[in-house]
Amino acid sequence: MLREWDHLPEGFLSARPGDLEGLLGGPSLIHLPGRRPEPLFVSVLLHGNEPAGLKAIQALLRDPPPGGLPRSLSLFVGNVSAARAGARRLDGQPDYNRVWPGGDGGDTPEHRLMARVTERMRELAPFASVDVHNNTGLNPHYACINRLENRFLQLATLFGRTVVYFIRPRGVQSLAFAEFCPAVTLECGKAGDAHGVEHARDFLTACLQLAEIPSQPVAHHDMDLFHTVAVVKVPETVSFSFSPGAEDLVFDPDLDRMNFRELPAGTALASVRPGSPVLIEARSETGEDVTAEYFAVHQDRLVLRRPMMPSMLTLDERVVRQDCLCYLMERMGMK
Ligand SMILES: [Zn+2]
Repeated sequence: MLREWDHLPEGFLSARPGDLEGLLGGPSLIHLPGRRPEPLFVSVLLHGNEPAGLKAIQALLRDPPPGGLPRSLSLFVGNVSAARAGARRLDGQPDYNRVWPGGDGGDTPEHRLMARVTERMRELAPFASVDVHNNTGLNPHYACINRLENRFLQLATLFGRTVVYFIRPRGVQSLAFAEFCPAVTLECGKAGDAHGVEHARDFLTACLQLAEIPSQPVAHHDMDLFHTVAVVKVPETVSFSFSPGAEDLVFDPDLDRMNFRELPAGTALASVRPGSPVLIEARSETGEDVTAEYFAVHQDRLVLRRPMMPSMLTLDERVVRQDCLCYLMERMGMK
């Protein structure tokens, strides 16, 4: 069930992520009026352990611009039960950023909830959509888009020059809203990074003040645009760790330092226990197995077969199991 509010619930501005389930009673859509009626849509806590979006909105609303909000705001607060547990999602829950319309066509209560949010917001004709996340490895702040259209690129580069374009996984919030308004996902560094919160707050403040999103092209030199070409997972049957041991794969303990670096062919990511099974699985955006294009085992090392740039490499074993090891990206040239 979707709870809708037409005001800020008492105590919201000082609530911690773990308080929200008690405060709101469940996932909630909160509408706050502003001078321009088409709302800015913001979603926070789709992953319960990623507080940047909540903190950014709280900071913005604690100290609103003089004269009040220049534009209406619709705020979706997502996985409050996982937030109470300090987890991305609870065991038995689907990932709240994989169940939006246009995804796998599943019919869980969470799929129905996100369909309702989408339908409700479509009626309100949002100005733009912003979904705020943290990640667990060392990554720069960057924005993701799912369409290579000028207004999407303009919105993304308002956050920073690093922009990632992807069309898989499906079922993410930004992909659903891209059907009817410019949509971005913000990656604001690690949870607890105060600069990530400020960066998101400043971006959201700027979005609220914009009368329109420019439709002219973003200049080449103002943007580093990358395209996700594969998602890399460790199969369930393969053991791994980030410290020396007897696991099938022992990753470099500084693995996440490779994020957003253009790595040469031959770069080693892990050492391999002799006789280990299929170690790693890379799938293209269309779901094909492309492992052999990107990875090889050379003596006792798992190495890259060709130059590439990873993102979202993490040292968090639970995230590797629940989500993925990393994404592989290529730099894109715009016409
Ligand atoms: Zn996330």
